[in-house]
Amino acid sequence: MSIWFEKLIKTFENEKIDYLANPNIPKQFYCKEFSDFNSYFFQTLKVSLDQSKKNKIFILHDGVFKKSALNSSENIIDKIIEILSENFIVTVKNLSFECQVNSLDIHASEEYLKKTSELIQNEESCNIFIALGSGTITDLLKHALFISNPNAIFISIPTAMTVTAFTSSFSVVDISGAKRTRPSKLIYATFWIESLLQAAPMQLSRAGYGDLLARFVAYGDWYLGYKLGISEKYDELAFRLMDAYAEPIKQIAKEFGKENLSQSASEISAATLAMAGIAMSLSGETTPLSGYEHVISHGLDFLRLISNRPLVLHGEQVALASLTSAMSFDWIFEIEKFDLKKMRSMSEKDTRQIINHFFNSAPFFGREEEKYLDSERKLFEAQSADTLNSAKEIFIKDYLIKSSKWDISKETFSIFINEWPVIKEYLKKLTIRSNEMQELLELACLPTFPEATTPNTTALEYRWALRFSPFIRSRFCIADFIFWLGEDTCTVGAI
Ligand SMILES: [Zn+2]
Repeated sequence: MSIWFEKLIKTFENEKIDYLANPNIPKQFYCKEFSDFNSYFFQTLKVSLDQSKKNKIFILHDGVFKKSALNSSENIIDKIIEILSENFIVTVKNLSFECQVNSLDIHASEEYLKKTSELIQNEESCNIFIALGSGTITDLLKHALFISNPNAIFISIPTAMTVTAFTSSFSVVDISGAKRTRPSKLIYATFWIESLLQAAPMQLSRAGYGDLLARFVAYGDWYLGYKLGISEKYDELAFRLMDAYAEPIKQIAKEFGKENLSQSASEISAATLAMAGIAMSLSGETTPLSGYEHVISHGLDFLRLISNRPLVLHGEQVALASLTSAMSFDWIFEIEKFDLKKMRSMSEKDTRQIINHFFNSAPFFGREEEKYLDSERKLFEAQSADTLNSAKEIFIKDYLIKSSKWDISKETFSIFINEWPVIKEYLKKLTIRSNEMQELLELACLPTFPEATTPNTTALEYRWALRFSPFIRSRFCIADFIFWLGEDTCTVGAI
């Protein structure tokens, strides 16, 4: 067992969490070699198998060729099938083939969720399901099982360390372009195989690292929301669980600027991602690792999903947006006196109006924006009217939830003002400053301005996402506070 995964167990013990019995904590295996994977896998599953026959296993993947090791030309899928076929009857489904689409077009959307559900419903006598792939494949299979086969054993085998989905009991599903996190199927075990993780494109590992940087800002959103009376509960369990990895994760930033990932960087990021997913599951919400930075990322995704453009790597967007978030915290720390006259309050009518305005001015086409004539844009909007209208209603409904809480807590804002010097100091402990965030991004070769994302984001899209951020979801983040103070999120945190 790797020392960084042992640390996982020690951290649970320190917190008196019974990690063996807690269903929110999937068994974690860090496999140095494929042979380790083979033995760990069979040993772990043994108790759940029917010993009188060869048991069935279902594997879902996205059809993209992925190297099984740095110096190997063997496909991961073939390698895993070869290993598991020794002890199991293996059914493999390639989702892009089944849907007859390019793998890049697959999202965790209702359409692909439906297809995944159909695929698993055909596997009646199978009880073990494996997501072999990225966060999207993991989210799709996890959620399809949650809906149609909740008692199945679900196993994740990440092919790149991209997101926290591999260990968390949540799925991010997009509904009319509005990304929503939903409770999902519990994961039985995660197998991190070092050689295949090292062979993953560096850009993907780097993006996964970017997603982890949310750790250094998102807790600030939660605490601030709690202190403002918008978020009802607040707890620091996830913060403490992640704390064991806070320094190591900063130390390995420069490893992501290299061509290949070192063994230790691979181990540390796998363990940190594992802990991040578990910490969210144990908190019962994604709040500990999903604040303003994820809201911005969802806003940028919205623009792309509506116009059917390929999404930017999630972690790249989150990393860039973490810089904006850190800048926004730096900005509020400068506030000595709140200008109560500038504070905003929004009725349902105001909300509808402002969201309409945002939709009418949304740069849905990104780089192509200027090529579209007004008439073409009108046509596009007419064709997408159903999706746009249903997204609009989701955004309005969600905004009004927090806005009504703000209207109540505004009445007692003087208490917050009195406490502000203390709150400020505490927020400084929960977050890092923008210069430190910028340095981490630069060392890891992550984007520090919108145009540097893959594919690139225009300054217009980024600014739109910052300004629209109060309307993306019902949960509070610092952008709401800036907006309610009557200020502009773009002036505060545009890069
Ligand atoms: Zn994320």
